[in-house]
Amino acid sequence: MNNLKKSAIMIIAGSDSIGGAGVQRDIRTCHQIGVTATNIITCVTAQNGFGVQRIEDVSLETILQQIESIQAEYDITYVKTGMLHKKEIISTIHDFIKHNHRIKLILDPVIIATSGGKLLQDDAIYQMKSMLASAFVVTPNLPEAEILSDIKITTQVDLIQACNIIYQLGAKNVVIKGGHFDLGSNIVTNILFDGHSHYEFSSPRIVGQEFHGSGCMFASAVTSYLFLKHDTVTSIKLASDFVYQSLCNYF
Ligand code: PLP
Repeated sequence: MNNLKKSAIMIIAGSDSIGGAGVQRDIRTCHQIGVTATNIITCVTAQNGFGVQRIEDVSLETILQQIESIQAEYDITYVKTGMLHKKEIISTIHDFIKHNHRIKLILDPVIIATSGGKLLQDDAIYQMKSMLASAFVVTPNLPEAEILSDIKITTQVDLIQACNIIYQLGAKNVVIKGGHFDLGSNIVTNILFDGHSHYEFSSPRIVGQEFHGSGCMFASAVTSYLFLKHDTVTSIKLASDFVYQSLCNYF
């Protein structure tokens, strides 16, 4: 039955009214890489360059119906999650992942946006940490890695330790994005820990540039390259390069 269905990625994320991040960025990234992306909206944000003015959650019933409608037509093997906003939405999505063993989850643990805005309710951190146990890849930025690992990250040694702690929480591959680390350095390094080795993916730091949505772009690019059957290390390398090139070209 499954082989009669179409194949696509499933994006589960929030809507960003200015379109630079969120599900709008995710879909654009997948299409740029040549992959079809279906999309489940979890919440609607009203925001602009000055901040986030309002967030309204989609009901759990409508979230589940979106998933059911897509699964009726598409064979989904890769899911990328972005802004889930509250614990009830996280638990609903986590249950869906746990009941679909073929799905590989690329979890962008959206807690704090690249720009610094808070996008996850404080009482939902526990559920976010629990979801790590089902993640094939997790892609925190530095502030998110500090929250998930419960350590302050100021040195390279801390970064490696945070990767290891987050791995212990169950994620199969942990990538800490380097954009917020060592701001004085002229390179940005993403670090991957797959349980055996640490890998580094470096690119020149771009200064004076808009980074809103770069985290969404990275996780969507990783998902797209995995979907195109690249191995994990290659997918993370290609995604790192994709974000760098996109930032060079002002998105
Ligand atoms: N998801 C939504 C809906 C957002 O509005 C944002 C940022 O504003 C993010 C995710 C995270 O964005 P970034 O990739 O900049 O961390």
